[in-house]
Amino acid sequence: MTPMSRLHPPGAPVAVLTTQPLDRALDYRAPPGGVQDGAFVEVPLGPRKVLGVVWGDAAGDWPVEKLRPIARILNVPPMGEAFRDFLEKSAAYTLTPLPAMLRLGLRAPGLGETPGKRRVYAIGTGAPDRVTPARLKVIDVLRDRPGDLFALSELAGMAEVSTSVVKGLVASGAVLEQDMPRDADFPPLDPKRPGKPLAPDQQQAADTLQAAIASGGYGTTLLKGVTGSGKTEVYLEAVAECLSHGRQVLVLLPEIALTAEFLTRVKARFGAHPAEWHSGVTQSERRRCWAKVASGQARLVVGARSSLFLPFQDLGLIVVDEEHDTSYKQEDGVLYSARDMAVLRASCEGAQVVLATATPSLESWANAELGKYKRLDLTSRFGDAVLPKLRTVDMRDEDLPGGRWVSPTLKREIETRIIAGEQSLIFLNRRGYAPVTLCRACGQQVACHQCDARMVEHRFLKRLMCHQCGETAPMPPACPSCGVEGKLAAVGPGVERMAEEVTALFPEARIAILSSDLFGSARALKAKVEEIARGGADIIVGTQLVAKGHNFPHLTLVGVIDADLGLQGSDLRAAERTFQLMRQVSGRAGRADKPGEALLQTYQPEHPVIRAILSGDEESFLREEADQRRAAGVPPYGRMAGIVISDPDAATAFDVGNALARRSQPLESVGAEIYGPAPAPIARIRGRHRVRLLVKAPRQAPIQPALAAWVAQIDLPRSTRLSIDIDPQSF
Ligand code: ADP
Ligand code: ZN
Repeated sequence: MTPMSRLHPPGAPVAVLTTQPLDRALDYRAPPGGVQDGAFVEVPLGPRKVLGVVWGDAAGDWPVEKLRPIARILNVPPMGEAFRDFLEKSAAYTLTPLPAMLRLGLRAPGLGETPGKRRVYAIGTGAPDRVTPARLKVIDVLRDRPGDLFALSELAGMAEVSTSVVKGLVASGAVLEQDMPRDADFPPLDPKRPGKPLAPDQQQAADTLQAAIASGGYGTTLLKGVTGSGKTEVYLEAVAECLSHGRQVLVLLPEIALTAEFLTRVKARFGAHPAEWHSGVTQSERRRCWAKVASGQARLVVGARSSLFLPFQDLGLIVVDEEHDTSYKQEDGVLYSARDMAVLRASCEGAQVVLATATPSLESWANAELGKYKRLDLTSRFGDAVLPKLRTVDMRDEDLPGGRWVSPTLKREIETRIIAGEQSLIFLNRRGYAPVTLCRACGQQVACHQCDARMVEHRFLKRLMCHQCGETAPMPPACPSCGVEGKLAAVGPGVERMAEEVTALFPEARIAILSSDLFGSARALKAKVEEIARGGADIIVGTQLVAKGHNFPHLTLVGVIDADLGLQGSDLRAAERTFQLMRQVSGRAGRADKPGEALLQTYQPEHPVIRAILSGDEESFLREEADQRRAAGVPPYGRMAGIVISDPDAATAFDVGNALARRSQPLESVGAEIYGPAPAPIARIRGRHRVRLLVKAPRQAPIQPALAAWVAQIDLPRSTRLSIDIDPQSF
């Protein structure tokens, strides 16, 4: 239980939770002025000083004279009680040690530093006295973000130059060096500015959300509406309501790429930009965001999933846009679903949650069915825009030479669009040039030497890349297996290869490729997206980067190269994913006043998922999926956890897995079953062999304590790592 917020008198023994990898808080003595629960402090630990947060009364019974005193209280308002409560509950839910959870909440660069102590760098007005390629890189980075301040090492790192290059530019005034300023406030947002006049169904949804916010307290609403139905306009009204009550708002978005367009809309609505928190923001901006969220001055934050761990003082609303998006699941370090944690945080804070989507996750849909979430539907597109017509192209009937993927039917449709001056999108959810590089002499595929994965050719980068570990290598002149030269061949299509085919088919057309590998920065991507939106391309070839949120008003045709991709495999979520992705990408066509059409190339047009996508009868699709999951007792109708054991040695990993499987008692006692051990879906990553156990339990089972007791029975070998993923993405 989180202690009540109160003042500990001078000299009192208090617990301080640090971000160090320890399993508990440590005891210290309150400083002369006393200290508040939740206060951010610096404490001595061995010879070092570390950051921490005061976490209630001391737990040990050391005589108080033996305790070391808290060294310093940071000049930041104490962490709110609701936030501490959230950290404890999310740690318990994800089976993460509390200090690791706190670390997520203290990821502010320079936290605890005094303003003025550090030098920061920004673009200057002078011209460099001498121009070199290295110097130009620095200036490029600074021009990319006018107004931003950089730490020296950060700037040098981003420009990939040494720090002396940056220093060398200061004398001429091309780069400004200054003391780190006290953080400037964010410009105030005006919730009273009128929004767009809403359509009747929009108005009704907005009224419901506003009433929930005005009445206070926790609640979650699923806001479902097809792409273009005006969900964003609706939830901006909820944001306005919350701001006018003086409470803070967090809007979570799945991709940095989305924020540029979104920020413009926020500015249009509230007269100023919100605070931002994601990987594309500089350290000094992050520090400012963190500090102003803690002080309550930043009222609206737009961010990626980690912004859930910002120290909001009075959070009244969390919007999770595109709530079904799989990138909300953090798959590294602390394993958590930002959507689920948003609901948990809101329940701790007494805040409302809006889950916005065109294609709800089965989890959220089921929670709405159960009445745990409210549900609001926008059923038509805003204005005159109509939903695209969907049809399949049966690839068994198409006359296509090997190594070609654009069917004659699709080609004809693209031609029609080019003549009409409209845009087409060719969609293939595969990065790179070709998924397989095969030796025609020995038949072996080129694989990553440290993962159970193929190397994928990226012709644009002129390298092979492992999509598991990110390792790249030059294209080998000879086959790594048999040594024969000149026999390596690309097999299957990737997005770069599609672009090649499309260029050959339409040599006159202007073709744009949208794939994450091709853009060095979010700015470059944004520029490309804007250019396309203005009509700067006839054909867009893209991966799922285009499936999300971007508005291309001239786009009237979507061609899905391989609608069957993703239907294979044993993953129970495959159908749901494919459905979501296909609906999402088709939804790109025909916004504004031009009707759209989507063509799905498939070899199995009679597949139930393909038929459901065509009919657009989402409710019956979800109901059928739900029935299957209910029958199987899997999420959201049962609990599930994935336990991955990894070790450089495969046998060791299996031994641990088997030992756990044998000692099943703690799990059996709560009605849980164990499946495995079996090789994990990706059986080797970065040289570590991975073995997986799946645990399935009834919905109400107290699975976390049972899992904790279960894994505690085994002493892991030093080389072995074990991770527990509650609600895994694949099962
Ligand atoms: P969604 O979030 O459901 O995809 P948006 O809110 O982005 O939909 O709306 C789609 C388009 O319609 C946007 O260009 C938006 O500006 C416009 N739009 C939505 N609602 C209104 C409205 N009430 N008045 C004017 N334009 C609107
Ligand atoms: Zn690899």
